[in-house]
Amino acid sequence: MKTFKRIAAGILSTALLLGMTSCAAAKQTEAANASAFTTVESGKLIMATNAFFPPYEYYEGEKIVGIDAEIAAAVANKLGLELVIEDVEFDSIIAGVQGGKYDIGCAGMTITEDRLKSVNFSTPYATGIQSIIVTADSEIKDIDTLLDGSFKVGVQSGTTGDIYMSDTPENGGVGEDRIERYSKGNDAVIALTAGKIDAVVIDNEPAKSFVAANEGLKILETPYTVEDYAMAINKDNVALKDAINQALKELTDDGTIPGIINKYIPAEG
Ligand code: GLN
Repeated sequence: MKTFKRIAAGILSTALLLGMTSCAAAKQTEAANASAFTTVESGKLIMATNAFFPPYEYYEGEKIVGIDAEIAAAVANKLGLELVIEDVEFDSIIAGVQGGKYDIGCAGMTITEDRLKSVNFSTPYATGIQSIIVTADSEIKDIDTLLDGSFKVGVQSGTTGDIYMSDTPENGGVGEDRIERYSKGNDAVIALTAGKIDAVVIDNEPAKSFVAANEGLKILETPYTVEDYAMAINKDNVALKDAINQALKELTDDGTIPGIINKYIPAEG
């Protein structure tokens, strides 16, 4: 329990985030007036995501839908841009934004201090919690059992679940030897149902969706880390960040964003 609290401290504190928010707010008037931002392709907002993360992004037929897809579409609309969604590996998103390939990374992405070294983040628009999925008859009862045992943990490559769990036991993880990485969260869940691993650590909303879709699994009641989801934006494109923050503020104030979240996660919107 204390371990999870300790790793949660590695994430930016709410106080710091609030500081960032008010700082961004100070620039918003400027951002609203200026059309100074540029995008990778003129007239388009190119969003990178990994579309296997329901209800934030997932396929409905050929189309990528979900909370992130809808919020990004609303932001693009405010900025007079056409949203283009690219479905890529989760752990290539930050590098792609940093390298100028995508305008935004929007993928239920947690703000972390490490990622802030490579990209800027917009104001947070949602929160996530790390969950532990085990089989219904598992010996793993809580986070301490998971950490102390010799259990194998499946994670989605490059996610915060991966970052926490692959850390050393002293730092609240299980260590590299007990980690199995998958490019999609659902592949980790399939490995769990097949008995190849003992637990999956992943964000709570996809966890609920994967558990609902697979028999014989449950989510542990544990003390959770709470994380802020935001859009990753290239550090050099401060004007785009300001414009996106202004759009997010307007879309929050007029109820659009709460409405989108409520549509996909009825109890929490
Ligand atoms: N919130 C987690 C992270 O940012 C997982 C995101 C994801 O898998 N799409 O690492």
